[in-house]
Amino acid sequence: MAGRENFHRETLAVSAGRPAHYPDAPLNEPVVFASAFGAGGELEYARYNHPNSRAFEETLGALEGGHALAFASGMAATAAVIDLVPNGGRVVVPRHSYLGTIALLHSAQNAGRLSVTEVDILDTAAVVAALPGAALAWLESPTNPALEVADLPTLLAAAHAAGVRSVVDNTFATPVLQRPLEWGADIVMHSATKSLAGHSDVVLGALVVRDEELHAELATRRKLLGGIAGPMELYLALRGLRTLSLRVERASANAAELVRRFGSHPALAEVRYPDFGSIVAFVFADADRAERFIAALELWRHATSLGGVESTLERRRRHPGESLSIPEGLVRLSVGIEHVDDLAVDLQRALDSV
Ligand code: PLP
Repeated sequence: MAGRENFHRETLAVSAGRPAHYPDAPLNEPVVFASAFGAGGELEYARYNHPNSRAFEETLGALEGGHALAFASGMAATAAVIDLVPNGGRVVVPRHSYLGTIALLHSAQNAGRLSVTEVDILDTAAVVAALPGAALAWLESPTNPALEVADLPTLLAAAHAAGVRSVVDNTFATPVLQRPLEWGADIVMHSATKSLAGHSDVVLGALVVRDEELHAELATRRKLLGGIAGPMELYLALRGLRTLSLRVERASANAAELVRRFGSHPALAEVRYPDFGSIVAFVFADADRAERFIAALELWRHATSLGGVESTLERRRRHPGESLSIPEGLVRLSVGIEHVDDLAVDLQRALDSV
């Protein structure tokens, strides 16, 4: 049999993170409800290490091409990365990063912990110019919810050349569509709550790195800050990861087809789609029209979050923390894996009604 390093990612998603093979061994890592393990082994205590964490991490690590660490949420993973920034350090971040990331950085800046330079991620030259002297380049592409696509290979090379640690929030693209470690990113971050787990039933985060020393530093942050994931969440997220490729392929095909069908609907001022992935933005002229469109839908569910098997959507500016440069009428659609015709019938009726 071919060595594991030769397996395709679809195969790794299914085969990694399995318990040892012996007669009557369970095929999946069972959910282990234990806070402590017999002394003298590798696990010791569930805040240090855990069998369900290991199984999830082995699989995600294989998909991203690095070593993964699971966290209680995407924000817990983000907090561990930001905790590595030395006091007084400067962080470069896209203006349209996920609102929680921006809020956490601003709160650290307000406390005098670090300083923040916000950049327009589409202006590659300006981002590169902001890098020298920074401690961390936080990158997100495509951005949530503006759907801007950064020139990641150029930005990551520039960060490396400037000696700036780089992290890419890869939540929207997933390792099926984009693997930033291969472009030289130091850290990949995920809200595994979204497409990785994929069924809108867990909150979970992850970091993936290649460098052993950085892995150890982040594992220490997790241990000391305590943002560990629970066994049930890890089990469910790993179950989701097994079908990631299938789900991303189907949801992306659905998204592209819906953009093709509705891209020039007269009710829409603009449709944003990065040409890959399952997230689309319909931009209406104002908040009122956007809200009426949402209320008219029957199959699509009005809910925050994204990346589930079911199609959901929301007007992002309903959140007070959302950037004021996101249009009031922007509705973020997370396209699921239903039949595209059923999704389209619902959209058509709702768009025609506003
Ligand atoms: N990054 C992105 C792009 C997100 O969409 C989210 C959540 O919406 C997060 C980070 C935060 O992740 P979590 O909600 O799992 O803490």
